[in-house]
Amino acid sequence: MDLPIKDSATTAPKLPVSNPIKPYWERKTTHVLANHRSTPDLPTECDVLIIGVGYAGVSAAYNLLKTNPSMSIALLEARSVCSGATGRKGGHLRPDLYEQIPKYIQRYGVDAGVQWAEFELANMEAIRELIAEARIDCDFTPTRSTDTWLSDEGAKTAKAAYDLLVSLQVRYTNTIDFVYGSDQDGIVKGVKASATYEAASLDPYKFILALLQRVLEMGKQVNLQTHTPATALHEDSVNGGWIVDTPRGSIKAKKIVHASNAYVSTLLPEYTKSIIPCKGICTHVAVPEGQSGATLTNLYIIRDAAGVLSYLIPLSGGEGVIVGGSSRLFRPYPQQWYNNVDDSTLIEASSGFFDNFMQRTFNGWEDSNAYVKEAWTGVMGYSFDSLPHLGEVPGKSGQYIVAGFNGHGMPVIWLAAKGIAEMIATDRAYEDVKYLPSIGKTTVDRIRTAQEGQDGGDIFN
Ligand SMILES: Cc1cc2nc3c(=O)[nH]c(=O)nc-3n(C[C@H](O)[C@H](O)[C@H](O)COP(=O)(O)OP(=O)(O)OC[C@H]3O[C@@H](n4cnc5c(N)ncnc54)[C@H](O)[C@@H]3O)c2cc1C
Repeated sequence: MDLPIKDSATTAPKLPVSNPIKPYWERKTTHVLANHRSTPDLPTECDVLIIGVGYAGVSAAYNLLKTNPSMSIALLEARSVCSGATGRKGGHLRPDLYEQIPKYIQRYGVDAGVQWAEFELANMEAIRELIAEARIDCDFTPTRSTDTWLSDEGAKTAKAAYDLLVSLQVRYTNTIDFVYGSDQDGIVKGVKASATYEAASLDPYKFILALLQRVLEMGKQVNLQTHTPATALHEDSVNGGWIVDTPRGSIKAKKIVHASNAYVSTLLPEYTKSIIPCKGICTHVAVPEGQSGATLTNLYIIRDAAGVLSYLIPLSGGEGVIVGGSSRLFRPYPQQWYNNVDDSTLIEASSGFFDNFMQRTFNGWEDSNAYVKEAWTGVMGYSFDSLPHLGEVPGKSGQYIVAGFNGHGMPVIWLAAKGIAEMIATDRAYEDVKYLPSIGKTTVDRIRTAQEGQDGGDIFN
């Protein structure tokens, strides 16, 4: 099936840049597998070729092997393992229970919207089980997330979303402690509304590298090739299946998993308008030795009086905190972040925002002398309609996509990749994997709507 690709101006193929800023997580411990190649040369063929070795790619491999440990799997990574968005994230594992859900309810109906939220909750539980089952050491910390709104307008919007869920008698609403009013005396200054619920934090780099280690231990025929970008993809007209080209040679594969997230349209140009690379920024805020701020027991989301969203996770061992966000500041300057894969530079419009962030935001941090120790950027796959694309690529039998996580992949990717692995291993349709939410399925309609719509779609709304 041919899908017209309309705008040649945005179809230039994109690969990760070669000199990204090293994020805190990777700087702390560079794993022995980070630059691993299982064999000096590329394998010539495999059952399943996975493109992209971040959270989605490694999760797909693990779940494929769980079904069939003797499946031959090749993993191609353009840079080092986990050098994409996964190794650059904030470390929040925080399901979205009300932020995007009202939009999904309005667009697709109550059942579909609630199914999505429940999918994110199910991911939390499944990740907890995985970490125990696979004995993964990744500083996994079950905790609560406190979302705060510091403006009257923001608080009203939050209350409207919460009230909608209550009025619809959505089951999980009773797990959210929602407080409305300006008399809250919490650790965050000037809160007008807050919502607190179960969440977790983890070290994303340790998580994925440990999971990859399990993949290599489990699989009898797994071949990892780092620093090997997939640059072209064509049909194998002789044997069936697909051939993927790289600068180091080609690989024939019966099936392909596109797990390259922000970069997915390089090999699947029909997604150029559906999944767009967008930069985000994160910082490590430290406190000088001998000084401290008030203890932070939860994860926090702050939407400040000017509507700027930032998020925070506390680190253990007096390491300080990870703070990211501030996209509202750079939103007016699309050239700094939109359709941009340069994670070797920061985002100019955010500069200065994180200085004194802790002092101005948290009670008990005024005299901490907290300072930005390091900052880095990462490239996320933002989607036209806010949802990822999951499932078999329309018109390309044997190619699967698991991409477009909108800076919110942590509570989505594990079960999404598990579902795709089940589709591949058992030859089932998307609808037959019951836990995959209906609205995440990649379809011709979704692709076409993005191609025909306003550039960026939801990304600018
Ligand atoms: C600054 C920042 C903070 C974030 N904070 C959070 C958070 O707190 N909570 C949360 O839920 N989410 C967060 N996210 C989003 C989250 O990181 C992503 O949703 C998730 O990690 C995406 O995983 P992935 O495997 O799909 O993509 P990636 O981790 O980007 O993996 C894709 C991989 O594909 C590789 N690749 C690309 N093209 C090719 C090619 N042609 N050939 C071979 N390899 C290729 C890339 O190098 C990369 O390693 C954040 C993201 C950023 C950037």
